[in-house]
Amino acid sequence: MYYNSLIEAIGNTPLVKLNSVTKGIKGTILVKVEYFNPGNSMKDRMALKMIEDAEKAGVLKPGGTIIEGTSGNTGMGLALVAIAKGYKCIFTLSDKQSQEKINILRAMGAEVIVCPTNVAPEDPRSYYSVAKKLNKDIPNSFYPNQYDNLSNTAAHYETTGPEIWEQTEGKVTHYAAGVGTGGSMCGTAKFLKEQNPNIITVGIDSYGSVFKKYKETGQFDENEIYPYMTEGIGEDILPKNVDFDLIDNFIKVTDKDAAIMTRRLAREEGLFVGWSCGSAVYGALEYAKEHMKEDDMMVVILPDHGTRYLAKVYNDNWMKDHGFLESRDFATAKDIVT
Ligand code: PMP
Repeated sequence: MYYNSLIEAIGNTPLVKLNSVTKGIKGTILVKVEYFNPGNSMKDRMALKMIEDAEKAGVLKPGGTIIEGTSGNTGMGLALVAIAKGYKCIFTLSDKQSQEKINILRAMGAEVIVCPTNVAPEDPRSYYSVAKKLNKDIPNSFYPNQYDNLSNTAAHYETTGPEIWEQTEGKVTHYAAGVGTGGSMCGTAKFLKEQNPNIITVGIDSYGSVFKKYKETGQFDENEIYPYMTEGIGEDILPKNVDFDLIDNFIKVTDKDAAIMTRRLAREEGLFVGWSCGSAVYGALEYAKEHMKEDDMMVVILPDHGTRYLAKVYNDNWMKDHGFLESRDFATAKDIVT
């Protein structure tokens, strides 16, 4: 058995039971380990769907160029689908992104344009404006815009949701995921709630993001917006892919709680995953502690792999510099760097 190209290897990721970090929690907590996708993240799913929908709509034609403002997982997903299908990629990103991320995208044959961080989105120099301008200037180019492109949600409605339903044989009672663009939460939630309307969803948000307050009050509160470090979840905008009706609860998680849980997932569960995976599991367990019963089964999405975070949450000195390392959070004294 072989795949005709790497894109056929996207999806069908394993569902794994957590056994250690869940001590004292009632019910079963399962994680969907998305780093098994060929680009090491769940973003491969929506990259493929955005490209294939654009092809069907005639927006992207053979030999075309894909242009997106992305630094991370979406870029990797788009790049590998583009290679399989013969498209070029141009990514614009801000200069606060690490050289490593730029190197990864260039390794995948993409052109990377680095733009200044400290300018407003409307400024012509911002990575957002540069992407838009390139899209206007380059013929047969396609600007996916993952925030508002509903192919993003559709990818998870068509793949992640059905996979979870089958893998749990319809026993899933709760679904939790971090919310960034909203695609993975809302596409999956829509499918699962169609199968069983009693399934409860928990959206994981970050401190410094607008989602939780907006859900609870209907108010877009700018005071909720402040800098935070966890990558991939939380926003200062309301993307079209976030459907608040499909998210029953929001839980906010701090950078620190997320970072510590990320490291515990590696050490205690063998899951070398990204920072937002720690947020998702920490938030999901907070909810589970209060609300789950013995027969309940929660599925939590783990979006990506740990390699991108070696210089951050997996670096003891970085953790110490940010005040994130404390003896009580760890099983061994080795964690304390002196
Ligand atoms: N975690 C990581 C690492 C991500 O890259 C993203 C995508 N922004 C998310 C979580 C959130 O997923 P979504 O965009 O589907 O809401």
